[in-house]
Amino acid sequence: MASDKKLIIGNWKMNLGVHESSLFLHRLANEVKIHRNVDVIIAPTMLALQTLSLQVNYKQFKLAAQNFYWRDHGAYTGEVSATNLRGIVQYGLVGHSERRHVFNESDKDTRAKVQAAIRNGIRPILCVGETTNERTAGETRDVIHDQLIGGLANVTSEELSQVVIAYEPVWAIGTGKNAVPSDVTEAVVTIRHQLKHLYGAKAANEVQVLYGGSVTADSAADYLALNEIDGLLVGGASLDEKAFSTIIEKAHRSINSGKK
Ligand code: PEP
Repeated sequence: MASDKKLIIGNWKMNLGVHESSLFLHRLANEVKIHRNVDVIIAPTMLALQTLSLQVNYKQFKLAAQNFYWRDHGAYTGEVSATNLRGIVQYGLVGHSERRHVFNESDKDTRAKVQAAIRNGIRPILCVGETTNERTAGETRDVIHDQLIGGLANVTSEELSQVVIAYEPVWAIGTGKNAVPSDVTEAVVTIRHQLKHLYGAKAANEVQVLYGGSVTADSAADYLALNEIDGLLVGGASLDEKAFSTIIEKAHRSINSGKK
C-alpha cells in the first residue's frame, strides 16, 4: 500500500447525459460523506465534464476524463486533448480495456497519452490487465509486464509519483465475474515488482495501485482489506448512489480498522 489514503474512482462510461450527470452528482453529493483519508474521483462522459467541474465540491469529488487525444492542439477533428482538459479534470484514464479492445489502442497510443496527461498536469490512471485467453494461457504476468513497460516507457522516476496504476483483468470488467482477492494480490505484487525493477523500491512502493472489475458494495471490503491495494476503480456500481457511497464508506473504514 502506497499511503494511508484510499482512492475510489467511479467510471460512468457512456452513461448519463449532461443533465442526468448533473442530477446524479447532486444525489451522490447528498449520500457521500467527506473523509480526509478517501479521495473520490468521478469520470463522467466528456460532454458532462465542464458542467460537473462548475458544480462539484472539490473536497468531496475530483474529476477524471475517460479518454483524451495525445496531441495538444491541431487539425484532429473530433478529438479532445489533455490540454483542452486542463483545469477541468485532475485525472485521466489511460489504457482502459475498452480503449484497448474496442478501439484497438496500442501500448504506443497508451504511452503517448500517459505523456500527454503528465505534460498537462493531469494524473494518468494507467489500466493494465489480461484477457480470458491470456489468463488461460498463463500469460497474466507477461501481459502486465508488457503493458507497464509499454505505458511507462518515457516516464521518469519523478513523474511516476503522478501516475496511478489500475489492475483491471479484462474478463472481470462489466461481467460480474470478479477476481478473487488472492489473484488480485498476486497481480499487484507483480506490478510493484516490475515498478521496483524500473524505478527502485521507494518509487515503486509510493505508487497508488487499484483493483477494478465488477466490484460491488458487497465485494468492496474484501479488496479494500488487501494491504497491497490503494483503492478501487468501479464501473457499474458507481451508477448507483447507495452502492457507490457504501463503497466509499468501506474504504474509509478499511483504513481505520487497519490502524493499530
Ligand atoms: C471499469 O469500468 O473500469 C470497471 C471496472 O467496470 P465494472 O466495475 O462495471 O466491471
